[in-house]
Amino acid sequence: MAEPAQSTRPQRRRMPLGFKWTALVAVGVFVTFAVLSLVLVTVMRQILVTQERNAVSDTIGAVEQRLSPVAADNLTVANVVPRIEGTTIDYGPANAIEDTPSASIFSDSVIQKISRADISLAIFDKDGQTLFSSQHSDQPFQRSQTTKIEMIRSHDFNGTLGRAPIVSTVTGKMIGYVQVTNHMTDFFTTMRQVYELIIALFGVALLASMLIGFLMARRFLKPIRLITKTIDVVNEEPQSSIRIPVLRRNDELGDLVIEFNQMLDRIQRFIDQQGEFVQDVSHELRTPVAILEGHLQLLNRWGKDDPEVLDESLAASLQEVTRMKSLIQEMLDLTRADQVDVQFPNAVCDINQTINQVVNDFRMIHPDFVFTLDNDLKGETWVRVYRNHLEQILIILLDNAFKYSTDRKEIHVSAALNSDGVSLAVQDFGEGISPKDSDRVFNRFYRVDKARSREKGGNGLGLSIAQQLVESYHGQISVDSALGHGSVFRIDLPVITEATAAKLKASEATKQKTTTTDIHSELG
Ligand code: ADP
Repeated sequence: MAEPAQSTRPQRRRMPLGFKWTALVAVGVFVTFAVLSLVLVTVMRQILVTQERNAVSDTIGAVEQRLSPVAADNLTVANVVPRIEGTTIDYGPANAIEDTPSASIFSDSVIQKISRADISLAIFDKDGQTLFSSQHSDQPFQRSQTTKIEMIRSHDFNGTLGRAPIVSTVTGKMIGYVQVTNHMTDFFTTMRQVYELIIALFGVALLASMLIGFLMARRFLKPIRLITKTIDVVNEEPQSSIRIPVLRRNDELGDLVIEFNQMLDRIQRFIDQQGEFVQDVSHELRTPVAILEGHLQLLNRWGKDDPEVLDESLAASLQEVTRMKSLIQEMLDLTRADQVDVQFPNAVCDINQTINQVVNDFRMIHPDFVFTLDNDLKGETWVRVYRNHLEQILIILLDNAFKYSTDRKEIHVSAALNSDGVSLAVQDFGEGISPKDSDRVFNRFYRVDKARSREKGGNGLGLSIAQQLVESYHGQISVDSALGHGSVFRIDLPVITEATAAKLKASEATKQKTTTTDIHSELG
């Protein structure tokens, strides 16, 4: 026995989509922000470090500029201090002469020029004796033969240290050393502030991204939740006419909702059709079964002894069985008629030849009728239709024309090519169909006059089969009729070129050959 349908959805979802979405957006923002911050901080740090190094190198440059004109062998307090502090002290004629060309430059102090509390300066003579030191110069003296500026990070000093020899431009000899210490107080303060700002911004960005992610997830998941809810209702009650409320959004999710509703409509139509079909079939079968039952009861009661009743009832029962057989065959034809493209994908047939043949067959079967064939088709005219199906369609229309003809026993068949394809028409001059009924004759089991149609052996399925077949082959069928004057049934089918027909026939032949070979190889 079939298991009752169960929801395959787990009761507790381990990680809801909304959460995943929010987390994904948050991680995305985190990574983007982290990378951008890293780039920004690195570039900014680089710029600031360069500025700090420049400050040291400028100070060294300024000191060198002041002290290099000293002509003595070694620097002394006397020739250093005034040049650095900018004070005018009389150091004797030698110095006065030496200082004359640039005396005005020394009127301002290098210390003032530095004007930064975190930069300190120390000047040593060539033996390493301190000649000048701004009060907080705290780094030990080291000789250096070239100008060296380096960033030092140690437990007792964080900053930039610059060391350079002072060479006299007069004697060309090394006369002392300059050492500049930059504690980079502003740099460290700025960097700390930047880090604090980034952390704060990061927190805000993370919260904002989580919020945005959550809101976006809610918005995007809304249709999905609605679809799930709708599926739940449809699962509970398959006949329900519930549909997803159409969202006013012009995107893929909006399309999904529309498509989903259309799919539900189609399924609903299909279920309704199935139900109707079963109802119609049972209804159609009820009459012959009731007739059969009546005759069998008759036979049971009197037929055994009365040969007349026996003959009559047997003949009537056989007739009903034949009718039921034709009904069952027509119902099968109808259900198969919508799968033609799957069953016969490469089928082609020459419509010109098929019409000639079917009309000739009818001429032979009904010699009392005049069949006129007005065929404008010149030579082979190919359509993508399985030949037996084309014959079946023509037979249904010609048979109806014959069945529903009255006094005028004439049937006209015409065929012509037009811009869209080939157009066929079957015309009779019989009872005709009222406009009200014209719309319904293609419905299953519909007969204008049920008793009369039944008398003529009709089940009301012929036109349904014809319509289903024609539409499956991408054609159209229509009726034009006047009550009491006759009807014209028209069929339009697309035609294909001879080359396409040849190609399709060749591929069909290959397919059949392959299938035959397969069977042979299977049979060994
Ligand atoms: P049936 O087997 O009863 O003929 P069809 O589906 O072929 O079933 O036709 C449906 C109904 O349409 C018929 O019962 C008949 O009333 C009407 N009909 C079909 N063809 C014609 C026609 N050529 N002239 C008048 N009525 C027609």
